[in-house]
Amino acid sequence: MNHQTYQDWLFADAEDLSPIQAHSLQEHLQVCEQCQSLSSAFYSLEAALNADEMAAPEPGFTRRWQARLEASQQHIYRRQIVTTFSTIVFGLVALAGLMLAILWPWLKSPSLLFYTWVYQVFSFYTFADALRNLASPLLNFSKSAFPLMGIIFGFGLLSELAVLWVVSYRLLTSPRRVTL
Ligand SMILES: [Zn+2]
Repeated sequence: MNHQTYQDWLFADAEDLSPIQAHSLQEHLQVCEQCQSLSSAFYSLEAALNADEMAAPEPGFTRRWQARLEASQQHIYRRQIVTTFSTIVFGLVALAGLMLAILWPWLKSPSLLFYTWVYQVFSFYTFADALRNLASPLLNFSKSAFPLMGIIFGFGLLSELAVLWVVSYRLLTSPRRVTL
């Protein structure tokens, strides 16, 4: 047996070794100075780690070290999720603010909003004609202030901007690219 085998056993959990392996390791440590100093360094390191408060202490140095690594990876990943989410929320709020600013004249006048809604939902030629006759001053104002094509174009542009923004943000950050 070479040193490497014994050193592997040294860093393995005690319960993972067979009695023969454990015995062989102890025998080797009696005679090998190199493995002996490694062993004492390992146990003092483990003692120092035990003194350090851990939420759920696990036996074995490697397992503990892996747990720490996973925790820090999870921390990084969680932070990326929070960053991504808050940026998306910020963007949505900005978009909503922009839409509100655009739609503000409508929202200020509920009756105008209602007539515009009716105007869009029902047929152009039947209902709009009837409404135009009934409330032509109001509708004429609505048509001149908010041409339908302009509204459609504006909403299309806004949704394209939103998609563009989300895609470029994802390309810039790539939150999944964490490999430790
Ligand atoms: Zn040795």
